Amino acid sequence: MNEIRSIGILGGGQLGRMLSVAASRLGLRCHVFDPGAAPAGEVAWRLTTAPYEDDHALAAFAESVDVITYEFENVPTSALDLLERLRPIRPGRHALAVSQDRLAEKTFLNEIGLATAPFADVPSQADLDAATRRIGRPAILKTRRMGYDGKGQVRIGGGAAEWTGAPSILEGFVDFSAEISVIVARGADGQVAAYDPGLNVHRDGILRSTTVPCGLPARATTDAVLIAGRIVNALDYVGVMGVELFVTPDGLIVNEIAPRVHNSGHWTQAGCAVDQFEQHIRAVAGLPLGDGKRFADVVMENLIGDDIGRVPDLLVAPRTQVHLYGKGEARPGRKMGHLNRIAE
Ligand code: AMP
Repeated sequence: MNEIRSIGILGGGQLGRMLSVAASRLGLRCHVFDPGAAPAGEVAWRLTTAPYEDDHALAAFAESVDVITYEFENVPTSALDLLERLRPIRPGRHALAVSQDRLAEKTFLNEIGLATAPFADVPSQADLDAATRRIGRPAILKTRRMGYDGKGQVRIGGGAAEWTGAPSILEGFVDFSAEISVIVARGADGQVAAYDPGLNVHRDGILRSTTVPCGLPARATTDAVLIAGRIVNALDYVGVMGVELFVTPDGLIVNEIAPRVHNSGHWTQAGCAVDQFEQHIRAVAGLPLGDGKRFADVVMENLIGDDIGRVPDLLVAPRTQVHLYGKGEARPGRKMGHLNRIAE
């Protein structure tokens, strides 16, 4: 019998909430740690509300659980250092270090033979000028750390290229025909299982929808899955990872990796026997991975800000799953929920 009974989750947003629900279905308890308002706290076994700098709260949290995971990659290093001495953290530190820093991430991907956009380290204005000459325009200046949903990014077009003051990378602009992602899982025993790639549409840097199947030729979808498998194996990874890729005429280019369950994997709740949340819980709890084979065509749409007004209609729509995160105020750009529409 598996000895893991309780799982600590750093971060209490919607991903932590859906992880907690999945864990409870498997008879496991989740303890959520979040500095602020935490939608996950409403469904979890326990909630600790404390800053990541509170060593006492972190230690008590760690000691109450058997293993620790997280729903976002920007967990402060000092908190990880403390937690790691008390309980295993899955996915491990290497995956976190790589995905917390765009320079480390792209360097790692190239080292294992995967294509990325051309990039350069930009620690200063002088480096930006040199990088812009080397990489050309248009390009995108991205902060190395703490960027998500298109935040911390500046497009460098024809005008003056101004450094933002934060350690950054300059990325060449990729002329892609589509954006896809692969949600991949790796178990504690090294077993790997990938979900079918999804086609992603972003607006204002935020994911709007994911469609499966993604409509690409079989060769491209196989390549995407093999790329995702190579990444998790190289990191000796345990858990679910989201791998975002650009589709170009020259093949697939890795945009970024997220060492956690991913918004573009929400369709698995309606399209697979075992969804990404349960798959992640299984992996971190040392259980066998489940069946992630897709049995339906699904479109996932995010409900962002005022989209929440669509809920009354969606609740009576056929073949539609509505997921709401229990967040109070529907601010612009805030993810309030999502829907999964299952095709006829
Ligand atoms: P990111 O936060 O790096 O995933 O970027 C957010 C979105 O910006 C991506 O999903 C793309 O739509 C776009 N983007 C990011 N990097 C590039 C790039 N090098 N070339 C073209 N578009 C990009």
